[in-house]
Amino acid sequence: MYADLHLHTNFSDGTYTPEELAGHGKRVGLTVMSLTDHDTIDGCARMAAACAELDIEFVSGCEFTVELDGFELHLLGYFLNLENTRMLSELAKYQKVRRNRIHEMVAKLNGLGIAITSEDVMRIANCDAPGRPHIGRALVEAGHCRNLDESFQKWLKKGKPAWVPKAKLSAAEAINLIHDADGLAVLAHPGLYHRDEVIPPLVELGMDGLECLYTRHSTPMTEHYLMLAEQYDLLVTGGSDCHGENKGKPLIGAVKVPVSFIEKMKSAVAA
Ligand code: AMP
Ligand code: ZN
Ligand code: FE
Ligand code: FE
Repeated sequence: MYADLHLHTNFSDGTYTPEELAGHGKRVGLTVMSLTDHDTIDGCARMAAACAELDIEFVSGCEFTVELDGFELHLLGYFLNLENTRMLSELAKYQKVRRNRIHEMVAKLNGLGIAITSEDVMRIANCDAPGRPHIGRALVEAGHCRNLDESFQKWLKKGKPAWVPKAKLSAAEAINLIHDADGLAVLAHPGLYHRDEVIPPLVELGMDGLECLYTRHSTPMTEHYLMLAEQYDLLVTGGSDCHGENKGKPLIGAVKVPVSFIEKMKSAVAA
């Protein structure tokens, strides 16, 4: 009995609809799934319904883009009350930041002589929380590069010519917001930051868990974060971070999270 607690749909920068994602989850034998789109919970209602149809337990979620000491981190919120008005209005604010950033980055690309429009990008994104992968897809579609990775390497990555910074929630605000919505706050993919020094201040701010099991964590990395989770008395979570097809296959279920972890999370929510 396995869970995947880190998944994206086309409500942010994933390519599957919630129904397709739930279908893939069923096929790989998942019994629990969460949806963690970037800065939006808009896909959660459809995902909950799709999971119910397939007898999969659904855990509401969101991947919040946050900042701590000038660095971008991703915080996962789980078991969120999807009706929490404070969370909804904050998310709406940062979705607007995302849409404005698309215009700013397209303007930079235009300045470099690349003729794409924000409308092209927004048509591809077709959601309220667009991101750089949508600009990348527009660049591929218009023939300016061969694939998404090339679009990031050439233009979209931090420090590359079309990159613009993005206003973010502070980690303190995000943890507060998640708790206000009755949820649990978990640091996503800690191994990708190479900055373990962020963990003690996040624990101090009330963070609840660490995503120790993650597709791009090596075995020693996973063991290291399991040890830190124990040291700081944090919940352990995990997920694939599937955004759709990866080399022709969905990444979903690539990380096997025992459902006993979800039981521990539920006890923490109830506490
Ligand atoms: P944004 O949220 O607009 O800042 O875009 C960040 C998202 O872009 C990440 O969550 C990843 O899904 C994706 N991403 C980051 N780097 C790459 C890359 N090199 N190739 C493809 N997608 C990427
Ligand atoms: Zn993403
Ligand atoms: Fe992330
Ligand atoms: Fe993610």
